[in-house]
Amino acid sequence: MATATATLEPRVKPGPTKLLINNQWVDSASGKTFPTVNPSTGEVICQVAEADAADVDQAVSAARKAFEHGPWRNKISASERGKLLNRLADLIEKNIDELARLEALDNGKPYKVAKAADLPLTIACYRYYAGWTDKVQGKTIPIGGDYFCYTRHEPVGVVGQIIPWNFPLLMQAWKLGPALATGNTVVMKPAEQTPLTALRVGELIVEAGFPEGVVNLLPGYGPTAGAAIAWHHDVDKVAFTGSTEVGHLIMEASAKSNLKRVTLELGGKSPNIVFADANMDEAIEGAHFALFFNQGQCCCAGSRLFVEEKAYDEFVEKSAERAKRRTVGDPFDSTTEQGPQVDDVQFEKVMSYIEAGKQDGAKLVAGGNRVGNRGYFVEPTVFADVKDDMKIAREEIFGPVMSIMKFKSIDEVVDRANRSEYGLAAAVWTRDIGKAHAIANRVRAGTVWVNCYDVFDAAAPFGGFKQSGIGRELGEYGLQQYTEVKTVTVKLPN
Ligand code: NAP
Ligand code: MG
Repeated sequence: MATATATLEPRVKPGPTKLLINNQWVDSASGKTFPTVNPSTGEVICQVAEADAADVDQAVSAARKAFEHGPWRNKISASERGKLLNRLADLIEKNIDELARLEALDNGKPYKVAKAADLPLTIACYRYYAGWTDKVQGKTIPIGGDYFCYTRHEPVGVVGQIIPWNFPLLMQAWKLGPALATGNTVVMKPAEQTPLTALRVGELIVEAGFPEGVVNLLPGYGPTAGAAIAWHHDVDKVAFTGSTEVGHLIMEASAKSNLKRVTLELGGKSPNIVFADANMDEAIEGAHFALFFNQGQCCCAGSRLFVEEKAYDEFVEKSAERAKRRTVGDPFDSTTEQGPQVDDVQFEKVMSYIEAGKQDGAKLVAGGNRVGNRGYFVEPTVFADVKDDMKIAREEIFGPVMSIMKFKSIDEVVDRANRSEYGLAAAVWTRDIGKAHAIANRVRAGTVWVNCYDVFDAAAPFGGFKQSGIGRELGEYGLQQYTEVKTVTVKLPN
């Protein structure tokens, strides 16, 4: 591991730190606040208003009023919704540098990465859904008899959205884009670790001219504010991204309250399969990126790395070398590839998985330690000779810990790849088109990448099989999750 040393100043100040309800910045009903922390130093950046059930009630009633009686549904046309979304995208673009800095400060991801990846993808997502607003069409249906029958795709209503901390701006865009394009109103809870960019975007939402009550933002904790959204009787749908464990709680809350619609984007333990006939340099760099990108904090991280026996030794050696070269340190240093884990809890969790890997007898070939004594930095870590039943091969680590396993045949690797409660993503590296398609067809996962990894586009749907989730985000499929189909049948005069 290489260490990035030069310390550059974040050169950014937090924007709003209150709740956004009905286009007003307000304190929480309880008056409580919570600290948001800079994970590079462990120091508090600022205090943020802490929403709880009473604030959720306020926000839901603002969103309900906006949905039933506001201009959003009654005056603003579909194409005007598109203009508003485009205006928001323009404002984010105008403030791209500030937002990238704020994201790096609050989350710990390298500023350079935030600016080159998170921000452009965020802006593209809003623009993509801006284009959809006036293209969501129903059908005319030739039913029997003298009737005119057609469908309308109507918004679901008041939507609760609960998002995680790993891609704060991007997850906000994945949620708001399709919800607003289709005319819903939103009550959103950003993650407690990373509320600052979501709130700054709230300011831009008001500036763009979205009517009051359309987007409400409630920073706060999951078990309080998050649960209040999931249990609320006047919320029509909840969209959640985060852990599978909390995904279960969200469904339970829906089942026991009002059967609100539920979409979930949850965890993964994605198989990344490398055949010996692959372009080895590309596969090694691709597998490195697949695991270590975003400090390993990706739901779709290629965290079960299967390498064909013939190429295994070379692959392990070069992957360990590459991990040792990865630069870890200050997110504001332009040479940094990897910043800190998002908080102390995640840091401790990652370190405990490294310990479990050692205990279970996996071979540590790179990293394994904390970096420095301040902030939550972890060495890029590689375990070889990992067995399928080891804890590090089964559970989502969500950190910079690579597990490499050996395989001999396609049938064997497909069986092993599918032996998981998760099914979010998978990848295959090979020059043989037959093998590539065999894997793409047989692996049970919502996304399969061939000779690439983490290629995202607002137009391409993303989501999980099995316990990795329910529903899809992005693309045209993403719109379906935010509309109800209404069938209208008109008797024709004879
Ligand atoms: P998490 O608890 O699932 O958090 C995701 C979001 O859900 C946060 O906004 C969280 O609030 C909220 N939440 C927590 N408990 C809730 C509840 N009872 N009702 C409603 N909302 C609730 O995830 P985490 O604790 O941050 O991370 C734990 C693990 O989850 C990670 O190690 C990783 O394995 C997985 N994860 C997956 C993704 C993904 O993209 N699929 C993203 C993040 C984490 P708080 O702000 O209070 O946390
Ligand atoms: Mg923070």
